[in-house]
Amino acid sequence: MSQIKYKSTRGGQADISSSYAIVQGIAQDGGLFVPQEIPKLDCPLEDLKDMSYQELAYQIMKNYLSDFTEEELKDCINKAYDKKFDDKKIAPLVKHDDVYFLELFHGPTLAFKDMALSILPHLLKTAAKKLNIEKEIVILTATSGDTGKAALEGFADVEGTKIIVFFPQDGVSEIQKRQMTTQVGDNTYVIGIEGNFDDAQNGVKQIFGDEAFNQYLSENNYMFSSANSINIGRLVPQIVYYFYAYFQMVQAGEIALGDQVNIVVPTGNFGNILAAYYARQMGLPVAKLICASNDNKVLYDFFNTGKYDKNREFILTISPSMDILISSNLERLLYHIADEDANKTKELMEKLKTQGHYEITPEMKDKLKIFHGGFATQAETCRRIKELFDKTAYLIDTHTAVAYSVYKDYLEKTGDTTKTIIASTASPYKFTTSVMKAIDSQYEGYSDFELIEKMSQLIKRETPKAIKDIDKRPVRHTTVCKKDEMKAVVEKILIK
Ligand SMILES: *Cc1c(COP(=O)(O)O)cnc(C)c1O
Repeated sequence: MSQIKYKSTRGGQADISSSYAIVQGIAQDGGLFVPQEIPKLDCPLEDLKDMSYQELAYQIMKNYLSDFTEEELKDCINKAYDKKFDDKKIAPLVKHDDVYFLELFHGPTLAFKDMALSILPHLLKTAAKKLNIEKEIVILTATSGDTGKAALEGFADVEGTKIIVFFPQDGVSEIQKRQMTTQVGDNTYVIGIEGNFDDAQNGVKQIFGDEAFNQYLSENNYMFSSANSINIGRLVPQIVYYFYAYFQMVQAGEIALGDQVNIVVPTGNFGNILAAYYARQMGLPVAKLICASNDNKVLYDFFNTGKYDKNREFILTISPSMDILISSNLERLLYHIADEDANKTKELMEKLKTQGHYEITPEMKDKLKIFHGGFATQAETCRRIKELFDKTAYLIDTHTAVAYSVYKDYLEKTGDTTKTIIASTASPYKFTTSVMKAIDSQYEGYSDFELIEKMSQLIKRETPKAIKDIDKRPVRHTTVCKKDEMKAVVEKILIK
């Protein structure tokens, strides 16, 4: 098989191997790594349709990680998708209200981030070994809640790595916070910051960009890498489950092989839906990709007008993992719809940086026709959670509910009868307060922890292991720092 190479969306680097792209994380020119050509499936869909998740993962990922040996890649896959997931299918598809929910939350932290972050540490370690890197890899992450915990869980006690997570002390849910501060593993560090998510993110970016500091750490045998969704090692594993969902529909007799489906994705950083786009480009029969936003509807505006504008109020919502005004992975889509013109992508990204907005050309906009952008307000989101629950007794979380809401609106408007998959990105147990209040006002006034028990009673299910007794686990991480102290904290952890 020919080796697939990566290049930067801004043109500064090319002919990079997948191992190198994973270790480096982000390109030197600030761009993101993309495959020089999106690979096509190298076999008919028919050959893949009865595979287990692990088998399918190999067949899809080998097209992108072609410098990994079969043994290396299979070893990473088997270490990632094992009993950590509480469902043998890893990502089961369930049908309710004539919609197909792809449940991506059966991993150790109850959010879809586990799908990629349970394998990334193994990919990174294997890649570093292949490249003869002997330095200890330090994963530095800012989180608005879900990424941090999933990265901690993935990297905990992985030899040759340390992971440091910064989260906004007052900007995550009680359950998210407790999930992080009780994290085990000798190589894990969790720090609350007095500031919001943007402060945490900016602090981390500054540390990444501080050459003198990086040099100093390098002399002490450390190198930084990133677990954020800009890393190609997170994007590639996410392509797998869209194929897997499709084949589950074929197996259940809901569609025939070759029929088209729609896919709806609740979107923040544009990573998950970009993976669906890659799946389509590889040959998955997809009609529409529906991008669902919450009140922070930059992407809705973008798909409807061709203008991206981050100059607006940042709204804290009940779907916090989608509260984002700069969707990093959109840069990869821009590059593809600009006919892989790195100069054009660079120009748009520079405009975004200096002016906070940009507009794409009519030719580019023309290529966005397979996308539909929608958004749901918080009130609509709550109403749809209740509506679906009353109708089917199926309970969805606030992020999935944004997607469901956008889909219902789309259906009313278009009458499109194409069968549709919704990416279900979190368990309702992760957002108990918002979900339970949406169902009934009698649940107001309880803590997140008290509502875990009540949710189990409501849906007559056992509480997932990942969250059971979480309020009784010992808190291991108590450090809090100011936003301008982040670098000093990192130095203290690493150098002592
Ligand atoms: C991260 C996240 C999203 C958004 O995914 P992107 O890949 O950033 O678009 C949606 N829902 C949940 C629950 C998440 O954790």
